[in-house]
Amino acid sequence: MAPSAILGTAPLDQEISIISSNTPTKATRTEVKHPEEPALLHRSLLERPHNVSYASGSYMTLKDGRKILDGCGGAAVAIIGHGNEEVLSATLAQMRKVSYVHTLSYTTDAAEDLANFLLHNPASASKHSLEKAYFVGSGSEANDAAMKLARQYFFEQGQTQRKCFVARRQGYHGNTIGAMSISNNLARRIPYRDLAIPNVSFVAPAYAYQYAHASESEAEYCTRLIAEIEAEFHRLGPQNIIAFVAEPVVGATAGCVAAPKGYFPAIRKLCDEHGVLLMLDEVMCGMGRTGTYFAFEQESVVPDIVTVGKGLGGGYAPIAAVLISGKIIDVLRAGTSAFNHGHTYQAHPVTCATALAVQNIVRREGLVERCADMGRLLEKLLRETFSASKYVGDIRGRGLFWALEFVEDRRTKSTFDKSVGFGLRVQQAAFERGVAVYPGGGTVDGVSGDHVLIAPPYNVSEVDLRIIVDTLKAAYVSIERYIDGEQGSSEKCILKL
Ligand SMILES: *Cc1c(COP(=O)(O)O)cnc(C)c1O
Repeated sequence: MAPSAILGTAPLDQEISIISSNTPTKATRTEVKHPEEPALLHRSLLERPHNVSYASGSYMTLKDGRKILDGCGGAAVAIIGHGNEEVLSATLAQMRKVSYVHTLSYTTDAAEDLANFLLHNPASASKHSLEKAYFVGSGSEANDAAMKLARQYFFEQGQTQRKCFVARRQGYHGNTIGAMSISNNLARRIPYRDLAIPNVSFVAPAYAYQYAHASESEAEYCTRLIAEIEAEFHRLGPQNIIAFVAEPVVGATAGCVAAPKGYFPAIRKLCDEHGVLLMLDEVMCGMGRTGTYFAFEQESVVPDIVTVGKGLGGGYAPIAAVLISGKIIDVLRAGTSAFNHGHTYQAHPVTCATALAVQNIVRREGLVERCADMGRLLEKLLRETFSASKYVGDIRGRGLFWALEFVEDRRTKSTFDKSVGFGLRVQQAAFERGVAVYPGGGTVDGVSGDHVLIAPPYNVSEVDLRIIVDTLKAAYVSIERYIDGEQGSSEKCILKL
């Protein structure tokens, strides 16, 4: 069922069930009752997340004493692992120097240095024309800022009729109203769809495993996707479009999905023909995660705006950035000379100093290259371990950013009923065995499909990488057996782990 068929037309109880399947409470929803409610509003009122009392390198220690190998860095955040002393020292040093100033009147070396470091990275500087960095506190804020900047770019040129964004189904750009409006993560949108900004349209995801026709070559699939985007541009009137927005490698929503070869260059060309901006969201896949500093380097395109986040501070600081091409800055220079936007905590000296310390380590230790190397090993291990697994439909990813997509039938690629919660079960079974991976549901269309995501730190050891894959296999096998054992039982889908 296509999400568009559900949004706004499904009965309310069905919509509520889609939302609740997005939270990790499904299996235990009716059984857990907590006499004492914590003051902190957790993601679920029914389940208590694990309390982590200590984390170092690739391992977290829970309050109950269990040690967990972090195979996903939270949500692909912890790129250098946990508890790094050098980062701690840099953070403290910055707090001693300057903990806060308002950017209306002040700047700090920490913010200036981080911007210079990111944009003049010798490994990637020749591959982009990004000229300015704008620092905020989260990926959602970065994408909201990018949307406003893109609009201002046209406004200052008198093209005030440009109001539309074109994004993709099964893409995620954040949870604030602006970023949510260009996202198509169904469960996260449902209650708020009437608040979403208008003038956003969604085209097909570039997701060959589920959406390319069996008879179609990669090039033919790509041509079909581009034709749809071109048709959407013409339907809207290309002179009315602000930007095309996409994740170069789709992260949590569909599980490490890269586009077919030639897709992004064709979009770049289409955007240029119509003066539309290309805005790439690398909040999850950027900062080296896919084995290159920017994910777009592997697509042979240069975006006009790119947002980065999760790996930027590596979890040590809440920081994200909008990186902006000279083309956009030139228009501001010729016009108002100011981005008409701002936050209290933008370019925060401490988060900038912390992120700079993380990025210094990444560069000094060659961790992006290491991510690419370890990624090749991870791919090999995953393919060896899961290629014959009957419920593993697809094994895909780049760098240290990999996903297993689960299907009930590998031949038809049909998905498990969402009440099975296959991905969630595999994640829970892996966790019980001491390894954290990141689960996802609604992989295919926001409702159906399951995957788990593997995104260890770039400095993960080879031994730990093997433990992650072996443990994931043991977890998967336990769920495979469980599902097969229940075959024919009417209660197959609703049993608790
Ligand atoms: C996580 C994510 C965001 C949102 O970032 P937050 O820091 O959670 O606001 C945006 N885009 C992508 C691709 C993401 O993975």
